[in-house]
Amino acid sequence: MAKIIVEHEKCIGCGSCAAVCSKYFEMAEDGKSHIKESVKNSQGNDELETNNIDCAQTAAEACPVQCIIIEK
Ligand code: SF4
Repeated sequence: MAKIIVEHEKCIGCGSCAAVCSKYFEMAEDGKSHIKESVKNSQGNDELETNNIDCAQTAAEACPVQCIIIEK
């Protein structure tokens, strides 16, 4: 099982993650990235456990401020 996390405070809302990986990412009403079907962790960041990282790795590499974390 792996984890996808977005550090909410760091996100600048560029939209790259949602563009390259709409399976997992969408832009929220506050203009920042939201991980679909995620839960909020204790830091207030979106967190999703999955068996298949899939395009989230590409999104993490595309993020200009490196606020997408993949924990394997
Ligand atoms: S690519 Fe990074 S900075 Fe851009 S919207 Fe996604 S999480 Fe935020």
